Amino acid sequence: MALRLYNTLSGKIEEFQPLDDNRIRMYACGPTVYDYGHIGNFRTFIAVDLLRRFLRQSGYAVNYVMNITDVDDKIIRNSARDGVSVKQYTAKYEKAFLEDVEALNIEQPKLVRATDHIAEMAEFIAKLQKKGFAYRSEDGSYYFRIANFPAYGKLSKKDFAGMEDGARVDVDEYDKDNARDFALWKAPKPGEASWETSIGPGRPGWHIECSAMSMEELGESFDLHAGGEDLIFPHHENEIAQSEALTGKPFARFWMHARFLLVEGEKMSKSLGNFFTPRDLMLKGHKPSAIRFLLTSVPYRNQLNFTFDGLKQAASNVEKLRNFQSRLTQGQFPAGAPENMVALAVETTERMKAGMNDDLNTAQAQAAMFDMVRKANAAMDANQLKKDDVPLLLAVLGKFDEIFSVLKDDDAAKMKRIAEWAKAEGREKDISPELLDAVRAAQLSDQQVNQKLAEMEQARRTRNFKASDAIRAELAAAGIVVENTKDGARWKRK
Ligand code: AMP
Ligand code: ZN
Repeated sequence: MALRLYNTLSGKIEEFQPLDDNRIRMYACGPTVYDYGHIGNFRTFIAVDLLRRFLRQSGYAVNYVMNITDVDDKIIRNSARDGVSVKQYTAKYEKAFLEDVEALNIEQPKLVRATDHIAEMAEFIAKLQKKGFAYRSEDGSYYFRIANFPAYGKLSKKDFAGMEDGARVDVDEYDKDNARDFALWKAPKPGEASWETSIGPGRPGWHIECSAMSMEELGESFDLHAGGEDLIFPHHENEIAQSEALTGKPFARFWMHARFLLVEGEKMSKSLGNFFTPRDLMLKGHKPSAIRFLLTSVPYRNQLNFTFDGLKQAASNVEKLRNFQSRLTQGQFPAGAPENMVALAVETTERMKAGMNDDLNTAQAQAAMFDMVRKANAAMDANQLKKDDVPLLLAVLGKFDEIFSVLKDDDAAKMKRIAEWAKAEGREKDISPELLDAVRAAQLSDQQVNQKLAEMEQARRTRNFKASDAIRAELAAAGIVVENTKDGARWKRK
């Protein structure tokens, strides 16, 4: 059974087969580093991360490239406003992006920066001009002549008949009624950053960046190109026009687009006050694992409405999975051969796989896992789970986590870094008491906690209750909750 994926280009769900037998070449449009990434951006990046992880689990070798847009209209405007160079301006947000990627357990793709590829972009434009697809305006800017590319509109399914020939648009982002010759290269303006190149001085337009860098890294034709749904037009339509005009070959075969994230039922926007970055949420005391899990809970093409209730639910679901794991790894079980748990493990694995193969239906994969957790917990409660069941169930949980990646309990350490960042940015007032609790919890490593727990047990065995209470209090202050169960003491981070 192979992955079936919705392809925006064909408008259909298709079987996803790579061009080369076992190697997948894929590209996602990365962040424009003019500000901190928000949870909408990360919904899209996490969706592509899940695809990459699932493809690898399915036996493919995946070459995944993402660009960093470190020059565009907004960056030029903001760096000029702040009186710093483009590089100085973007360095801070690029670093922040990498930290957020790590905090959200997104496996880092191969990253390529636009400003490191300016010469190649100029060459690309020169070739387009030679073929008659690009022209130079009087001021030294270059435009793509869309009248010469009849397939224009094939991705966004727009009909551009009747469009005014030669009408031009200069801004990188424009609305759908603006199907005009778009800028490939912008002539220098006073006070703006520009580069000297073979086609003259200036800077690249946003669209040419992705065409040039994706083909350089992955070849003229590759398997999949991804981004949020807002990129279908004009960005991706323009990428197709530029690339296919140059090579005469199909550019990306599959186009994957994640649906826009809503927040409390509305489009996220700074003016509505419903605009959140992962950092904002961590400052409020929410764990990065909960943010990641929430963003994976709805399949990428369905509407995901971010709410704080949803975030709490996601945190409790992550907790359920972690508790299940520690129950399995720390518990004592009667010896014996596996019984009904074998069938459950097999069935769960199949359901997860079938869900993911069905256009990355993450909701189905998660439902399968939670069914298993519920049934296995019930078996443990009834003392029916046998020693030999444990590795089987842990293996299924491990497969799940290869994709969803929320089991590792390193939230507190990550939140500690956010608190440090907030201090460095002069934003102490945004640090919530909940975040401070988490930071306190990060002060003890797992090993240290286990050590303290052993000391506590020892003190109890020698009936030194004063000492054991003191250790318990110390652990509580560090955000460690100790539970005494019939299988001995267990702990978790608050
Ligand atoms: P940008 O940094 O604005 O270029 O966006 C980076 C990525 O995030 C692109 O793939 C966008 O399509 C995507 N994106 C932006 N806003 C949202 C949103 N609200 N929901 C989902 N994806 C988004
Ligand atoms: Zn792009």
